[in-house]
Amino acid sequence: MSVNLPAYNKVMAELAPHKASLVAVSKVKPASDIQALYDAGQRIFGENYVQELQEKHPILPADIEWHFIGHLQSNKVKYIAPFVSMIHAVDSLRLLEEIDKQAAKHHRIIRCLLQVHIAEEETKFGLDESELREVLTQWKAQADKFQHIRIAGFMGMATNTENMEQVRAEFRRLKALQTQLKATFAPGDEQLTELSIGMSGDYTIALEEGSTMVRIGSMLFGARS
Ligand SMILES: *Cc1c(COP(=O)(O)O)cnc(C)c1O
Repeated sequence: MSVNLPAYNKVMAELAPHKASLVAVSKVKPASDIQALYDAGQRIFGENYVQELQEKHPILPADIEWHFIGHLQSNKVKYIAPFVSMIHAVDSLRLLEEIDKQAAKHHRIIRCLLQVHIAEEETKFGLDESELREVLTQWKAQADKFQHIRIAGFMGMATNTENMEQVRAEFRRLKALQTQLKATFAPGDEQLTELSIGMSGDYTIALEEGSTMVRIGSMLFGARS
């Protein structure tokens, strides 16, 4: 077993005062590692690859809440729609439409996060502020069409850098944007409230800057080869 239970207990203790939740990122790790962390009490697991998630889902406990956190192609939504509970990296209206359509087929509601581009790297996926406003405007205008999704909030990945002040500034900008967009597009309901920020190397900063959901892999399961 290669699950770091002391690290798990430490993270859970750090999350508690922030009332934030843990997505245990289990990509490329065996089902036995997921089972070990499940046995320690963890229920939310995050995966990045559709095929891998399809393989793991049926052989692990049914009450696991699966979050898809990777880049998702529209043509693959159908494979995870029957069981996935949250999709973190939605980056287009078209993908949102496809998730809604597939969720409807299974009489489900799938919670989604819009991925926001906050890092300075060009390669990271995500929407910029004007694209976000456009997607949210369309979603509001066609509310009757989107009965099978909820936009729970936003997800972001900071620049991969040692400069923690830069990371903090990027998280802070996303928090400010979330506050604004919530007030504009979803005042008084439960949507646009979640902020999925923070990974093994930067989750303590993310919590200080308003994270409601951290996505932690290597700290719990060891480095990925
Ligand atoms: C792999 C991954 C994580 C976890 O990263 P660690 O540094 O191992 O904690 C979090 N979020 C996303 C989107 C990932 O792909």
